[in-house]
Formats: sequence, C-alpha cells, structure tokens
Amino acid sequence: MFAARMDRARRRMQELRIDVVLLSVGADLPYLTGYEAMPLERLTMLVLPRDAEAVLVVPRLEAPRVDDRVGGFTLRPWDETEDPVAIVAALASGAQRIAVGDQTWARFVLGLSAALPDTAFLNASDVLSPLRAVKDADEIAALRAAAHAADAVALEMAQERFSGRTERDVSREFAQRLIDLGHSRANFAIVASGPNGASPHHEPGERVIDPGDVVVCDFGGRMRGYCSDITRTYVVGHPTDEFADLFDVLAEAQARAVDAVEPGVPAEEIDAVARRIITDAGYGSYFIHRTGHGIGLDAHEEPYLVAGNDEKLEVGNVFSVEPGIYLPGRYGARIEDIVVVTGEGPESLNLAPHHAYIVD
Ligand code: ZN
Ligand code: ZN
Ligand code: ZN
Repeated sequence: MFAARMDRARRRMQELRIDVVLLSVGADLPYLTGYEAMPLERLTMLVLPRDAEAVLVVPRLEAPRVDDRVGGFTLRPWDETEDPVAIVAALASGAQRIAVGDQTWARFVLGLSAALPDTAFLNASDVLSPLRAVKDADEIAALRAAAHAADAVALEMAQERFSGRTERDVSREFAQRLIDLGHSRANFAIVASGPNGASPHHEPGERVIDPGDVVVCDFGGRMRGYCSDITRTYVVGHPTDEFADLFDVLAEAQARAVDAVEPGVPAEEIDAVARRIITDAGYGSYFIHRTGHGIGLDAHEEPYLVAGNDEKLEVGNVFSVEPGIYLPGRYGARIEDIVVVTGEGPESLNLAPHHAYIVD
C-alpha cells in the first residue's frame, strides 16, 4: 500500500517537474510511510527523490519508533552532535525544484533554503493533497468506524445532565467517551453554551450551563489513524419557538447540501446550496464560515467546501458538511456530518439523528 502511494507521488512529481519532496511534521509523511514525525525541535525528514530511493532522516533516539518492515526508504539516524539540515541538504543537492511539507518548521525550511540557494521551494501539498483527498476502501472503513464511535458518544451524552456543570467538565466527558469507545485520542471537544455558542471555535471554559441554554457540541479525535468530527446541538430544557424555527432552517440547509454531493459537482456548489437556504431565511450574515472541510489522517484537509473552490468532487472524497448559524451575544447552532462521495449518491458516515438533543 505504501509502495503504491509512493509510486503515485512520484508520478505526480514528474507532472509537476519536482525533483525532491521533503516531508516532516504532518500527515503526508505517515501517508507515505506509516511513520509520524514527533512535532519537536529535532528534525525528522523524509527525502523523497523522484528517481532514487527515499531516505528517512530521523533523530537517533527516535529511530526505534520507525517500523522498518514498511520498506520504500532507508533510515539515516542522526546523532545529537550532527546538523540534520546539512544532512538533508546533501541528500537533496542538485535538485532544482524541491517541494516541502506544509507544516515543516520555518527554522528548517529557512536553513534548507540558505543551504540550497539555487533551488526553488514549493509546497508538497501540491503533490500529496490530491492523492490524499481520494480515499481507498480501507481509509473509508476507518473513517466510518471513527464516525460511528462519535455518533455513539453524541447519543450517550444526550442522556447526561448538562445544567449546573461547567463547559469544561462536559467537554472532558465528551473527550473521555471518545477514548472509551476506541479512539486513541480526542483532538478537541468544543462545548459552547448560551452566548458562547455564537463563537464557532469556542474554547470550553468555566461558564456554568444554565436551564434554557442552547449548547453547541463539536468533538472529534483519532481512531485507527483516521479522524472523527461531529457536531450536534443540545438544548437544556425546552427550546424556544425562535430556536426551533432557526434549527429547522439549519437542518434543511445541511440535508440539502448533503443531497447535492455528487461526483463532478464543484466543491463550492455544496457551500452555495447550504448558504442559499440560510440566506433566504434571513440568517445569511450569521453563517460565518465555509460549509465543510476534507477529513482523513488530518482533521482538516482538502477538499474545502468554500466559495471560490471550483475543484470538482470525486468518488472517494470525504468531507464534513457543517453549516451553522451564530447569533452574537445570544447562541449558536451547528449540524455536522462526515460525508463520502460515491458513484451511488452521498453516504453520510454519521448516523446520529440531527434534531436538537433535549437534556436536563
Ligand atoms: Zn471547526
Ligand atoms: Zn467539527
Ligand atoms: Zn469539522
């Protein structure tokens, strides 16, 4: 599998006339090798030439973490007294066009560009994002399993008490339950109550959840290497008529946007479908983010469902569809599912019902 991915990467390097790809922190490296660089100050870097064997330059103390049965690269452990940038620069010398992983620390990129003054540096995402955006059956199975675990957490939490607890306390419970249901880690667990719900990426804090609050809960993590990401909206006690109307609009926007998912449709069209419904209902200026993002090894990756992205959806793309409406100073609401593009219509990986969950 890794060998096939490396072959595809090399073909794309050929198309883009890239001589060497350099991958460090981030998901491109595990996509090609199964190995994830520790996001620390010591450099880990895969040197992937178009026409020669790849070399993984790795701190000697981290070399035992590398599974060398994967193949496709040799290891070059470096000692504490060596300069890893010089090692990479020597391996890449002569390259005219080098593509560097998007999340590589600037310190190393600047060091490499100083060591290789005649080389053009490009983004490795140009090589790898189109490959990673089309998932194979195993990747979709992993995303489905992660989504189902997240569904189960959303439903379990609908049985729990929210009022009288801090957002932080409820957030911890979401995260713990993801782990209890098979995630290796929780990436985030947004619990945004009352007025905090108007901030889509609210950091859960000490606010105590009150009766009557609308609570936006957006949580996800990693399971078998792949990410989950789901949002459901909870209401403590009885929802107001205004909220019920707003939430109907939101649910309609989310459902119609998912229905529009089909191979060949531009990514921006999915955003437009959701936005039109929300705008027609008078909430357009309160939908302040794009409709969705791709998901895989990374929680956010291509394709992005946003105005201006006219890339056409392909079978195997997996992304969130997550419109939201945010009333500043009052509350917010969002519904988020992960959706797969198939030849036979959209498949929503999340199956937990969309209605607002009434809790105590
Ligand atoms: Zn988000
Ligand atoms: Zn989310
Ligand atoms: Zn999301």
